[in-house]
Amino acid sequence: MINFQYARANDVADAVRLIAAEPSAKFIAGGTNLIDLMKEDVERPTRLIDITRLPLKTVEETASGGLRIGALVPNSDLAYHPLIELRYPVLSSAILAGASQQLRNMASTGGNLLQRTRCAYFYDTVTPCNKRQPGSGCSAIDGINRGHAILGTSEACIATHPSDMCVALAALEASVHVTGPAGDRIIAIGDFHRLPGDTPQRDTNLGRDEIITAIELPAKGFAKNYSYLKIRDRLSYAFALVSVAVGLEMDGDTIRQARFALGGVAHKPWRKLEAEATLNGQTASADSFNRAADLLLRNAKGFAHNTFKIELARRATVRALTQAARGTPQSQSNKKIA
Ligand SMILES: Cc1cc2nc3c(=O)[nH]c(=O)nc-3n(C[C@H](O)[C@H](O)[C@H](O)COP(=O)(O)OP(=O)(O)OC[C@H]3O[C@@H](n4cnc5c(N)ncnc54)[C@H](O)[C@@H]3O)c2cc1C
Ligand code: SF4
Repeated sequence: MINFQYARANDVADAVRLIAAEPSAKFIAGGTNLIDLMKEDVERPTRLIDITRLPLKTVEETASGGLRIGALVPNSDLAYHPLIELRYPVLSSAILAGASQQLRNMASTGGNLLQRTRCAYFYDTVTPCNKRQPGSGCSAIDGINRGHAILGTSEACIATHPSDMCVALAALEASVHVTGPAGDRIIAIGDFHRLPGDTPQRDTNLGRDEIITAIELPAKGFAKNYSYLKIRDRLSYAFALVSVAVGLEMDGDTIRQARFALGGVAHKPWRKLEAEATLNGQTASADSFNRAADLLLRNAKGFAHNTFKIELARRATVRALTQAARGTPQSQSNKKIA
């Protein structure tokens, strides 16, 4: 662990001023990812800016019928918030599928978006890793890559984004509110995380001197027909090999609108609008779900140890769509094992 300075931000403007003043400073919220990375010598901030006392801990209804979730709302509070359970159960279910109760009590909404990959080479500072040290190479491409990406990879990096919450946010088409020296802006969740390309060191499009203040959910929450299905090596306390968030708007057996996103397969939650569009107006059936899943995975490419994830993701998508259409979501089993 390195030496670092500590400062506490009094308000959002103060937080932005402090981070803008020091290029190697970092915000700290729950600390559940950042402190681990500092202990492993992966992150070396010169100053930690404590944002935990900022007034960003409320969930409020918006004029457009959605919700605004403060960046410091703990993952547990969000998952069990009555409005989230009632109107956005896919989000509640996804959060409860992640980590453990103790971690979720500490972890913040903003920090969850910015958690870094779980690629073992990223954590192992004696191995080359383009994300940790740009230009050094990628140890995973010819190494042990069982948990790595099958979609949107590059020659520089094949890491996945590990969040469960973000997969549900992608299916819900949430937006991220941020503030920086130039003022406030809103980033669609689909544009927030990046594919690795030749700059895998950049996980997101958040500016270095910007702070996340809130997540906004639109009014539509797919509360009747949803599913969050997480496939992992252990039933709890493990990151996803593959996860699927689904929201369907049904009219009898007919799908009016379909949204689905995959986790554990790419550098960001993976959606394909073309695959979703094939379901709109169709009868919910094994045939239509298989067609959609085929399209979703069409360009998937495996590496030495993770080719199995292509078929796993395809089957998980079909199963999650089926559960959502029947109104028998996976969420109940996630809640039991949380
Ligand atoms: C053992 C273990 C198991 C886990 N399992 C899962 C799992 O199965 N699924 C899952 O989704 N997650 C899992 N997690 C990850 C956990 O959800 C994240 O560590 C947590 O959400 C991060 O939130 P935090 O507030 O602790 O972030 P911190 O560690 O405080 O910060 C993380 C990053 O975000 C930045 N940051 C924080 N808040 C803001 C903000 N408002 N604006 C700008 N920057 C900010 C920090 O500077 C830092 O770079 C696991 C973690 C552990 C340790
Ligand atoms: S997959 Fe990405 S994070 Fe993992 S070793 Fe390669 S460059 Fe680093």
